[in-house]
Amino acid sequence: MEKLEQLYEGKAKKVYKTDDPNEFIIEYKDDATAFNGEKKGSIGGKGVINNKMTELIFTMLEKQGIPTHFIKLLSESEQLVKAVTIFPLEVIIRNTAAGSICKRLGLEEGLKLEAPIFEFCYKNDDFGDPMINDYHVIAMKLATKEDIEVIRDMTFKINDILKAYFLEKGINLVDFKIEFGKTADGQIVLADEISPDTCRFWDVKTNEKLDKDRFRRNLGNVEEAYVEMLKRVKA
Ligand code: UDP
Repeated sequence: MEKLEQLYEGKAKKVYKTDDPNEFIIEYKDDATAFNGEKKGSIGGKGVINNKMTELIFTMLEKQGIPTHFIKLLSESEQLVKAVTIFPLEVIIRNTAAGSICKRLGLEEGLKLEAPIFEFCYKNDDFGDPMINDYHVIAMKLATKEDIEVIRDMTFKINDILKAYFLEKGINLVDFKIEFGKTADGQIVLADEISPDTCRFWDVKTNEKLDKDRFRRNLGNVEEAYVEMLKRVKA
């Protein structure tokens, strides 16, 4: 499989066409950004780690009945995926309060939430990915009511699977962001990535942060945290 025209370059990945219109190649980069692109940097080895971790997690989710865009790894930093049209939505689940919800609602970081919180954000950098609800999604034609139902059901299932999966590895899944896409034949599948860039992972025993918050907050040992998370996922 050969990379043809570059379709898109995001903050952490590039997407290429292939000679098959139903397949794209994703190349994972070491580039890291935070605070809507205000903080820029690079995390050594991140592309390879996130490519591998996404392969392992998406394969595990497929086995548990979650359809994903993942087809196969092509190299250390590249994977072949089903071509999808991405819904311009960031779908977020929070199990424990951290990050923006603490600032917005005055919750203490680490507060165990009584029930998982489901959020939509509108993927639009110009407006800082604002939080929206179902009514905005439908009114703005970002997805239909039926799409939302499928996405929400899949997201809660994914949360149940991931929470248990990471707990076995000594990790508290605090929150995460996922994205969905639609294939040419209309199937909604999990797309994008699941990695320390897109999840908050806290060690169960020590509460040590093993995710991108180490970069966001200049906590040091950023690379080490990504390496440790891949080690736990592989174990
Ligand atoms: N997240 C992400 N991409 C974004 C915004 C958030 O992957 O553009 C992830 C983030 O890593 C965390 C979860 O979504 O696991 C919730 O993030 P939050 O709303 O707290 O925003 P942040 O504090 O990251 O700005």
